[in-house]
Amino acid sequence: MTGNCVFCKIKNKKIPAEILFEDDFCFIIKDINPVAPIHFLIIPNIHFTYLDNLTDDFAPVISKMFEAAKNIALHENVLESGYRLVINQKDDAGQEIPHLHLHLIAGIKLKPLG
Ligand code: 5GP
Ligand code: ZN
Repeated sequence: MTGNCVFCKIKNKKIPAEILFEDDFCFIIKDINPVAPIHFLIIPNIHFTYLDNLTDDFAPVISKMFEAAKNIALHENVLESGYRLVINQKDDAGQEIPHLHLHLIAGIKLKPLG
């Protein structure tokens, strides 16, 4: 299942990007506009936009995304110091790309959310 969004184009090598990791479930790139010294995007291979209609079929993909996040946190030496995972959904959260993705943000003391 592929879409026409920027992440599908990166996945399909239509837009050049350094893909740091990829497997049958997801891939990882650096955010083009990082908000912290470490800012990765963990992106499912399949194009879907919202968590609204998530079914059990997606459970392996979601699980693998979090596993990949943990692995890149380990690789970047922030597994112990800490990291933040963020999924923006729809307008009020400022979702820019209509392809679900997990931000991994780290490498600096992050401000509390509240
Ligand atoms: P959202 O607001 O949708 O959760 O986040 C989208 C993120 O994708 C933003 O942080 C933005 O900087 C990043 N981004 C947008 N276009 C590109 C691109 O072409 N390449 C990369 N590496 N990141 C992108
Ligand atoms: Zn897509």
